[in-house]
Amino acid sequence: MQPSSKWNRRGFLGSGAAIAGLLATVGKSFGWARASSPASATVSGLGQSGNVYDELGVATVINCEGTMTMLGGSLPHPELEAVMLQAGRHFVSMPELEVAAGKRIAQMLKLPDGFTALVTSGAAAAIQSGLAGILTGDNEALIRQLPDLTGMKSEVIIQKSHRNPFDHQLRTTGVRLVEIETREQLRRAVNERTAMMHFTNFANADGQIKVDEWPKLAKQYNLPCMNDAAADTPPVSHLWDYTVMGYDLVTFSGGKAIRGPQCAGLLIGRTDLVANALLNNSPHEDTIGRSQKVGKEEIVGMVKALELYLNEDHDALSREWQMRLDSIASQVKKVPGVSTSFFTPDIANHVPHLHITWDETRVHVTPKEASKWLRGTKPSIVIGSGEGRPGLTMSSFMLQPGEDTIVSEQLVKLFRDHAA
Ligand SMILES: *Cc1c(COP(=O)(O)O)cnc(C)c1O
Repeated sequence: MQPSSKWNRRGFLGSGAAIAGLLATVGKSFGWARASSPASATVSGLGQSGNVYDELGVATVINCEGTMTMLGGSLPHPELEAVMLQAGRHFVSMPELEVAAGKRIAQMLKLPDGFTALVTSGAAAAIQSGLAGILTGDNEALIRQLPDLTGMKSEVIIQKSHRNPFDHQLRTTGVRLVEIETREQLRRAVNERTAMMHFTNFANADGQIKVDEWPKLAKQYNLPCMNDAAADTPPVSHLWDYTVMGYDLVTFSGGKAIRGPQCAGLLIGRTDLVANALLNNSPHEDTIGRSQKVGKEEIVGMVKALELYLNEDHDALSREWQMRLDSIASQVKKVPGVSTSFFTPDIANHVPHLHITWDETRVHVTPKEASKWLRGTKPSIVIGSGEGRPGLTMSSFMLQPGEDTIVSEQLVKLFRDHAA
Protein backbone atom coordinates (compact mmCIF):
# COMPACT_ATOMS: atom_id res chain seq x y z
CA MET A 1 0.00 0.00 0.00
CA GLN A 2 1.89 2.99 -1.26
CA PRO A 3 0.12 5.81 0.56
CA SER A 4 1.13 4.47 3.95
CA SER A 5 4.81 4.82 3.14
CA LYS A 6 4.44 8.55 3.74
CA TRP A 7 3.22 7.90 7.24
CA ASN A 8 5.58 5.26 8.51
CA ARG A 9 8.30 5.49 11.09
CA ARG A 10 11.01 4.95 8.50
CA GLY A 11 9.82 8.20 6.98
CA PHE A 12 10.46 9.97 10.25
CA LEU A 13 13.89 8.41 10.69
CA GLY A 14 14.74 9.14 7.08
CA SER A 15 13.90 12.77 7.48
CA GLY A 16 15.90 12.89 10.72
CA ALA A 17 18.97 11.74 8.83
CA ALA A 18 18.25 14.29 6.12
CA ILE A 19 18.10 17.04 8.73
CA ALA A 20 21.39 15.97 10.28
CA GLY A 21 22.98 16.09 6.82
CA LEU A 22 21.46 19.45 6.07
CA LEU A 23 22.67 20.92 9.33
CA ALA A 24 26.18 19.60 8.82
CA THR A 25 26.27 21.42 5.48
CA VAL A 26 24.78 24.63 6.84
CA GLY A 27 27.08 24.48 9.85
CA LYS A 28 30.17 24.16 7.67
CA SER A 29 29.32 27.00 5.33
CA PHE A 30 28.67 29.38 8.22
CA GLY A 31 31.47 28.13 10.40
CA TRP A 32 29.15 27.18 13.25
CA ALA A 33 29.83 23.50 13.33
CA ARG A 34 29.93 23.64 17.12
CA ALA A 35 26.77 25.66 17.48
CA SER A 36 24.93 23.13 15.35
CA SER A 37 26.06 20.14 17.39
CA PRO A 38 22.76 19.71 19.31
CA ALA A 39 21.03 18.86 16.07
CA SER A 40 23.51 16.16 15.13
CA ALA A 41 22.32 12.61 15.72
CA THR A 42 23.13 12.26 19.42
CA VAL A 43 20.94 13.89 22.05
CA SER A 44 21.86 13.80 25.71
CA GLY A 45 19.46 14.57 28.54
CA LEU A 46 15.81 14.93 27.57
CA GLY A 47 15.22 13.15 24.30
CA GLN A 48 18.11 10.71 24.60
CA SER A 49 15.80 7.68 24.41
CA GLY A 50 14.06 8.99 21.30
CA ASN A 51 10.75 9.27 23.18
CA VAL A 52 10.44 12.51 25.11
CA TYR A 53 6.97 11.55 26.37
CA ASP A 54 8.25 8.36 28.03
CA GLU A 55 11.01 10.39 29.65
CA LEU A 56 8.50 12.90 30.99
CA GLY A 57 6.24 10.11 32.23
CA VAL A 58 3.30 11.00 29.97
CA ALA A 59 1.58 8.10 28.23
CA THR A 60 1.13 8.40 24.47
CA VAL A 61 -2.22 7.29 23.09
CA ILE A 62 -3.59 5.69 19.94
CA ASN A 63 -5.89 8.30 18.46
CA CYS A 64 -9.11 6.91 16.96
CA GLU A 65 -10.97 10.19 17.48
CA GLY A 66 -9.51 12.43 14.81
CA THR A 67 -7.82 15.83 14.86
CA MET A 68 -8.52 16.70 18.48
CA THR A 69 -6.54 19.64 19.85
CA MET A 70 -6.86 18.01 23.29
CA LEU A 71 -4.77 15.06 22.02
CA GLY A 72 -2.23 17.18 20.16
CA GLY A 73 -4.13 17.83 16.94
CA SER A 74 -2.34 15.87 14.23
CA LEU A 75 1.21 14.66 13.65
CA PRO A 76 3.04 17.12 11.42
CA HIS A 77 4.16 15.93 8.03
CA PRO A 78 7.75 14.60 8.46
CA GLU A 79 9.13 16.98 5.81
CA LEU A 80 8.16 19.95 7.97
CA GLU A 81 10.91 19.20 10.45
CA ALA A 82 13.71 20.03 8.00
CA VAL A 83 12.03 23.17 6.71
CA MET A 84 11.22 24.51 10.16
CA LEU A 85 14.82 23.93 11.24
CA GLN A 86 15.96 25.97 8.23
CA ALA A 87 13.59 28.74 9.28
CA GLY A 88 15.18 28.78 12.73
CA ARG A 89 18.65 29.49 11.33
CA HIS A 90 18.20 33.17 10.43
CA PHE A 91 16.66 36.44 11.57
CA VAL A 92 14.10 38.10 9.32
CA SER A 93 11.56 40.91 9.47
CA MET A 94 8.49 39.07 10.72
CA PRO A 95 5.91 41.36 9.05
CA GLU A 96 7.79 40.98 5.76
CA LEU A 97 7.82 37.19 6.18
CA GLU A 98 4.09 37.17 6.93
CA VAL A 99 3.29 39.10 3.74
CA ALA A 100 5.56 36.91 1.61
CA ALA A 101 4.09 33.72 3.09
CA GLY A 102 0.59 35.06 2.42
CA LYS A 103 1.45 35.75 -1.21
CA ARG A 104 2.85 32.26 -1.67
CA ILE A 105 -0.24 30.71 -0.10
CA ALA A 106 -2.53 32.82 -2.31
CA GLN A 107 -0.66 31.56 -5.40
CA MET A 108 -0.80 27.95 -4.27
CA LEU A 109 -4.52 28.14 -3.53
CA LYS A 110 -5.18 30.19 -6.70
CA LEU A 111 -7.16 32.70 -4.65
CA PRO A 112 -9.07 35.40 -6.56
CA ASP A 113 -7.30 38.74 -7.16
CA GLY A 114 -7.30 40.92 -4.09
CA PHE A 115 -7.13 37.97 -1.70
CA THR A 116 -4.23 36.79 0.42
CA ALA A 117 -3.52 34.79 3.59
CA LEU A 118 -2.02 35.30 7.01
CA VAL A 119 -0.40 32.57 9.06
CA THR A 120 -1.69 32.86 12.63
CA SER A 121 -1.10 30.73 15.71
CA GLY A 122 -4.29 28.79 14.93
CA ALA A 123 -7.80 29.17 13.59
CA ALA A 124 -8.87 30.67 16.91
CA ALA A 125 -6.25 33.40 16.52
CA ALA A 126 -7.37 33.94 12.92
CA ILE A 127 -10.94 34.54 14.11
CA GLN A 128 -9.84 37.09 16.70
CA SER A 129 -7.34 39.01 14.58
CA GLY A 130 -9.61 38.98 11.53
CA LEU A 131 -12.39 40.64 13.49
CA ALA A 132 -9.96 42.98 15.27
CA GLY A 133 -8.75 44.21 11.87
CA ILE A 134 -12.31 44.89 10.75
CA LEU A 135 -12.98 46.89 13.93
CA THR A 136 -9.79 49.00 13.95
CA GLY A 137 -8.80 49.30 10.32
CA ASP A 138 -5.21 50.51 10.28
CA ASN A 139 -5.82 53.12 12.99
CA GLU A 140 -3.00 52.77 15.54
CA ALA A 141 -4.91 54.36 18.40
CA LEU A 142 -7.87 52.03 17.91
CA ILE A 143 -5.55 49.02 17.69
CA ARG A 144 -4.04 49.96 21.08
CA GLN A 145 -7.49 50.61 22.54
CA LEU A 146 -9.07 47.15 21.95
CA PRO A 147 -11.08 45.63 23.61
CA ASP A 148 -12.46 49.07 24.53
CA LEU A 149 -14.70 49.69 21.52
CA THR A 150 -15.31 53.42 22.04
CA GLY A 151 -15.50 54.93 18.56
CA MET A 152 -15.74 51.56 16.83
CA LYS A 153 -18.53 49.25 15.73
CA SER A 154 -19.52 46.83 18.45
CA GLU A 155 -21.81 44.06 17.20
CA VAL A 156 -21.36 40.83 15.25
CA ILE A 157 -24.37 38.98 13.87
CA ILE A 158 -24.45 35.20 14.16
CA GLN A 159 -27.17 32.58 13.68
CA LYS A 160 -28.28 31.23 17.04
CA SER A 161 -27.45 27.65 16.07
CA HIS A 162 -23.93 28.74 15.07
CA ARG A 163 -22.90 29.74 18.59
CA ASN A 164 -19.96 27.54 19.67
CA PRO A 165 -16.97 27.65 22.03
CA PHE A 166 -14.80 29.36 19.42
CA ASP A 167 -17.00 32.46 19.28
CA HIS A 168 -15.14 33.35 22.46
CA GLN A 169 -12.46 34.62 20.08
CA LEU A 170 -14.99 37.07 18.65
CA ARG A 171 -16.08 38.19 22.13
CA THR A 172 -12.47 38.85 23.26
CA THR A 173 -12.46 41.91 20.99
CA GLY A 174 -15.25 43.37 23.12
CA VAL A 175 -18.07 42.92 20.62
CA ARG A 176 -21.55 41.76 21.50
CA LEU A 177 -22.89 38.78 19.56
CA VAL A 178 -26.36 39.39 18.16
CA GLU A 179 -28.19 36.11 17.60
CA ILE A 180 -30.68 35.74 14.78
CA GLU A 181 -32.60 32.83 13.26
CA THR A 182 -34.60 34.13 10.30
CA ARG A 183 -33.81 36.39 7.34
CA GLU A 184 -36.26 38.91 8.76
CA GLN A 185 -34.49 38.92 12.14
CA LEU A 186 -31.20 39.42 10.30
CA ARG A 187 -32.64 42.41 8.41
CA ARG A 188 -33.79 43.98 11.67
CA ALA A 189 -30.49 43.23 13.46
CA VAL A 190 -28.33 45.14 10.96
CA ASN A 191 -27.58 48.67 12.20
CA GLU A 192 -24.79 51.23 12.31
CA ARG A 193 -23.05 49.29 15.12
CA THR A 194 -22.81 46.06 13.08
CA ALA A 195 -19.19 45.19 12.33
CA MET A 196 -19.46 41.76 10.70
CA MET A 197 -21.60 38.69 9.96
CA HIS A 198 -20.08 35.46 11.29
CA PHE A 199 -20.69 31.94 9.97
CA THR A 200 -19.71 28.64 11.63
CA ASN A 201 -19.10 26.21 8.81
CA PHE A 202 -19.77 22.97 10.72
CA ALA A 203 -23.17 24.33 11.81
CA ASN A 204 -24.34 24.83 8.21
CA ALA A 205 -27.10 22.23 8.45
CA ASP A 206 -28.46 23.69 11.71
CA GLY A 207 -29.14 27.26 10.61
CA GLN A 208 -31.93 28.55 8.37
CA ILE A 209 -29.44 30.57 6.30
CA LYS A 210 -26.95 28.32 4.53
CA VAL A 211 -23.28 28.79 3.71
CA ASP A 212 -23.81 30.14 0.17
CA GLU A 213 -26.60 32.58 1.05
CA TRP A 214 -24.82 34.18 4.06
CA PRO A 215 -22.19 36.07 2.00
CA LYS A 216 -24.88 37.19 -0.48
CA LEU A 217 -26.88 38.73 2.36
CA ALA A 218 -23.71 40.30 3.76
CA LYS A 219 -23.07 41.96 0.37
CA GLN A 220 -26.63 43.20 0.33
CA TYR A 221 -26.13 44.83 3.75
CA ASN A 222 -22.64 46.00 2.82
CA LEU A 223 -21.05 44.08 5.71
CA PRO A 224 -17.92 41.93 5.78
CA CYS A 225 -18.49 38.25 6.58
CA MET A 226 -16.30 35.53 8.03
CA ASN A 227 -16.52 31.75 7.83
CA ASP A 228 -14.87 29.65 10.55
CA ALA A 229 -13.96 26.48 8.63
CA ALA A 230 -11.21 25.45 11.05
CA ALA A 231 -11.60 21.68 10.82
CA ASP A 232 -13.24 21.50 7.41
CA THR A 233 -10.65 19.94 5.17
CA PRO A 234 -10.86 17.40 3.60
CA PRO A 235 -12.03 18.01 0.94
CA VAL A 236 -9.04 20.10 -0.02
CA SER A 237 -11.19 22.38 -2.22
CA HIS A 238 -12.65 23.96 0.92
CA LEU A 239 -9.42 25.95 1.12
CA TRP A 240 -10.65 28.12 -1.77
CA ASP A 241 -14.39 27.34 -2.04
CA TYR A 242 -15.48 29.91 0.54
CA THR A 243 -13.58 32.91 -0.78
CA VAL A 244 -15.01 32.09 -4.21
CA MET A 245 -18.46 31.94 -2.57
CA GLY A 246 -18.00 35.54 -1.38
CA TYR A 247 -16.64 35.31 2.17
CA ASP A 248 -14.30 38.19 3.00
CA LEU A 249 -12.42 36.15 5.61
CA VAL A 250 -12.10 32.38 6.13
CA THR A 251 -10.23 30.59 8.91
CA PHE A 252 -8.53 27.19 9.00
CA SER A 253 -6.49 25.25 11.50
CA GLY A 254 -2.97 24.39 10.39
CA GLY A 255 -2.56 21.64 12.94
CA LYS A 256 -5.56 19.50 12.05
CA ALA A 257 -5.96 17.52 8.81
CA ILE A 258 -3.50 19.78 6.93
CA ARG A 259 -0.83 18.39 9.29
CA GLY A 260 1.03 21.66 9.59
CA PRO A 261 2.69 22.95 12.75
CA GLN A 262 0.39 22.47 15.74
CA CYS A 263 0.55 26.17 16.62
CA ALA A 264 -0.43 27.48 13.20
CA GLY A 265 -3.57 28.45 11.37
CA LEU A 266 -4.72 30.46 8.40
CA LEU A 267 -6.71 33.61 7.89
CA ILE A 268 -7.58 33.71 4.20
CA GLY A 269 -9.29 36.78 2.85
CA ARG A 270 -9.36 40.24 1.32
CA THR A 271 -5.88 41.77 1.22
CA ASP A 272 -6.94 44.95 3.07
CA LEU A 273 -8.67 43.02 5.87
CA VAL A 274 -5.78 40.57 6.20
CA ALA A 275 -3.28 43.46 6.41
CA ASN A 276 -5.32 45.03 9.22
CA ALA A 277 -5.53 41.65 10.97
CA LEU A 278 -1.74 41.48 10.95
CA LEU A 279 -1.51 44.97 12.51
CA ASN A 280 -3.58 43.57 15.40
CA ASN A 281 -1.36 40.52 15.80
CA SER A 282 2.10 39.53 16.97
CA PRO A 283 4.86 40.65 16.38
CA HIS A 284 3.16 44.06 16.77
CA GLU A 285 3.11 45.17 20.39
CA ASP A 286 0.30 46.73 22.37
CA THR A 287 -2.17 44.72 20.32
CA ILE A 288 -4.89 42.28 21.27
CA GLY A 289 -3.17 39.56 19.28
CA ARG A 290 0.30 39.92 20.80
CA SER A 291 -0.46 36.87 22.96
CA GLN A 292 -0.98 34.79 19.84
CA LYS A 293 2.63 34.78 18.72
CA VAL A 294 3.38 32.82 15.62
CA GLY A 295 7.05 32.05 15.00
CA LYS A 296 9.07 32.23 11.82
CA GLU A 297 9.32 28.43 12.04
CA GLU A 298 5.54 28.02 12.12
CA ILE A 299 4.99 30.51 9.30
CA VAL A 300 7.42 28.69 7.02
CA GLY A 301 6.13 25.32 8.23
CA MET A 302 2.56 26.30 7.41
CA VAL A 303 3.47 27.25 3.84
CA LYS A 304 5.30 23.94 3.42
CA ALA A 305 2.44 21.97 4.96
CA LEU A 306 0.03 23.46 2.45
CA GLU A 307 2.38 22.68 -0.44
CA LEU A 308 2.56 19.04 0.72
CA TYR A 309 -1.15 18.85 1.41
CA LEU A 310 -2.09 20.16 -2.04
CA ASN A 311 0.19 17.58 -3.68
CA GLU A 312 -1.16 14.66 -1.71
CA ASP A 313 -3.22 11.93 -3.42
CA HIS A 314 -6.37 12.55 -1.40
CA ASP A 315 -8.35 9.70 -2.99
CA ALA A 316 -5.61 7.22 -2.18
CA LEU A 317 -5.47 8.47 1.41
CA SER A 318 -9.21 8.12 1.75
CA ARG A 319 -9.04 4.54 0.43
CA GLU A 320 -6.27 3.76 2.90
CA TRP A 321 -8.35 5.13 5.80
CA GLN A 322 -11.33 3.03 4.68
CA MET A 323 -9.17 -0.11 4.38
CA ARG A 324 -7.95 0.29 7.96
CA LEU A 325 -11.56 0.51 9.14
CA ASP A 326 -12.56 -2.47 6.96
CA SER A 327 -9.91 -4.61 8.59
CA ILE A 328 -10.98 -3.60 12.11
CA ALA A 329 -14.67 -4.17 11.27
CA SER A 330 -14.01 -7.62 9.82
CA GLN A 331 -12.42 -8.74 13.11
CA VAL A 332 -14.81 -7.24 15.67
CA LYS A 333 -17.99 -8.42 13.97
CA LYS A 334 -16.81 -12.02 14.39
CA VAL A 335 -17.77 -11.63 18.06
CA PRO A 336 -21.43 -12.75 18.40
CA GLY A 337 -23.75 -9.81 19.01
CA VAL A 338 -21.37 -7.16 17.63
CA SER A 339 -22.31 -5.20 14.46
CA THR A 340 -20.52 -2.55 12.42
CA SER A 341 -21.46 0.11 9.88
CA PHE A 342 -19.70 3.00 8.15
CA PHE A 343 -20.50 6.68 7.70
CA THR A 344 -18.76 9.89 6.66
CA PRO A 345 -19.81 13.14 8.37
CA ASP A 346 -20.86 15.77 5.80
CA ILE A 347 -18.66 18.41 7.34
CA ALA A 348 -15.80 18.51 9.88
CA ASN A 349 -13.75 15.31 10.02
CA HIS A 350 -15.18 14.49 6.56
CA VAL A 351 -13.40 11.12 6.53
CA PRO A 352 -14.60 7.49 6.80
CA HIS A 353 -15.88 6.53 10.26
CA LEU A 354 -16.63 3.11 11.71
CA HIS A 355 -19.61 2.71 14.00
CA ILE A 356 -19.59 -0.33 16.32
CA THR A 357 -22.72 -1.43 18.19
CA TRP A 358 -23.56 -4.52 20.17
CA ASP A 359 -26.44 -6.34 21.78
CA GLU A 360 -25.99 -5.55 25.47
CA THR A 361 -27.81 -8.74 26.48
CA ARG A 362 -24.96 -10.68 24.86
CA VAL A 363 -22.03 -8.34 25.49
CA HIS A 364 -22.34 -6.85 28.96
CA VAL A 365 -20.65 -3.49 28.65
CA THR A 366 -21.99 0.00 28.03
CA PRO A 367 -20.38 2.23 25.40
CA LYS A 368 -19.07 4.48 28.15
CA GLU A 369 -17.49 1.57 30.02
CA ALA A 370 -16.04 0.25 26.76
CA SER A 371 -14.44 3.60 26.01
CA LYS A 372 -12.98 3.70 29.54
CA TRP A 373 -11.68 0.11 29.26
CA LEU A 374 -9.86 0.96 26.00
CA ARG A 375 -8.42 4.12 27.55
CA GLY A 376 -6.97 1.92 30.30
CA THR A 377 -5.22 -0.59 28.03
CA LYS A 378 -1.55 -0.38 27.18
CA PRO A 379 -1.06 1.33 24.82
CA SER A 380 -4.03 3.51 25.70
CA ILE A 381 -6.66 3.75 22.95
CA VAL A 382 -8.88 6.83 22.64
CA ILE A 383 -12.23 6.03 20.99
CA GLY A 384 -15.34 8.16 21.33
CA SER A 385 -18.59 6.80 22.65
CA GLY A 386 -21.79 8.65 21.98
CA GLU A 387 -21.73 11.70 19.65
CA GLY A 388 -25.45 11.15 19.25
CA ARG A 389 -24.98 7.53 18.22
CA PRO A 390 -25.12 4.49 20.49
CA GLY A 391 -21.97 2.34 20.65
CA LEU A 392 -18.44 3.35 19.70
CA THR A 393 -17.43 5.60 16.84
CA MET A 394 -13.96 5.85 15.37
CA SER A 395 -11.98 7.30 12.49
CA SER A 396 -8.65 5.96 11.26
CA PHE A 397 -6.95 8.98 9.66
CA MET A 398 -4.81 9.76 12.71
CA LEU A 399 -3.66 6.13 13.16
CA GLN A 400 0.01 5.33 12.71
CA PRO A 401 1.14 2.19 10.86
CA GLY A 402 0.34 -0.97 12.81
CA GLU A 403 -2.04 0.76 15.19
CA ASP A 404 -5.13 -0.53 13.36
CA THR A 405 -4.05 -4.06 14.31
CA ILE A 406 -3.64 -3.11 17.99
CA VAL A 407 -7.06 -1.41 17.99
CA SER A 408 -8.73 -4.40 16.38
CA GLU A 409 -7.11 -6.89 18.83
CA GLN A 410 -8.09 -4.83 21.86
CA LEU A 411 -11.66 -4.35 20.63
CA VAL A 412 -12.04 -8.11 20.14
CA LYS A 413 -10.60 -8.72 23.62
CA LEU A 414 -12.97 -6.13 25.10
CA PHE A 415 -16.04 -7.75 23.56
CA ARG A 416 -14.96 -11.35 24.33
CA ASP A 417 -14.13 -10.46 27.96
CA HIS A 418 -17.61 -9.04 28.41
CA ALA A 419 -19.50 -11.70 26.44
CA ALA A 420 -22.19 -13.66 28.25
C1 LIG B 1 -10.33 23.56 16.10
C2 LIG B 1 -11.30 24.63 15.82
C3 LIG B 1 -10.96 25.98 16.03
C4 LIG B 1 -9.63 26.38 16.62
O1 LIG B 1 -8.56 26.04 15.79
P1 LIG B 1 -7.06 26.17 16.33
O2 LIG B 1 -6.25 26.00 15.08
O3 LIG B 1 -6.87 25.05 17.30
O4 LIG B 1 -6.90 27.49 16.96
C5 LIG B 1 -11.89 26.95 15.72
N1 LIG B 1 -13.10 26.63 15.24
C6 LIG B 1 -13.48 25.34 15.03
C7 LIG B 1 -14.82 25.06 14.48
C8 LIG B 1 -12.59 24.30 15.31
O5 LIG B 1 -12.93 23.04 15.09
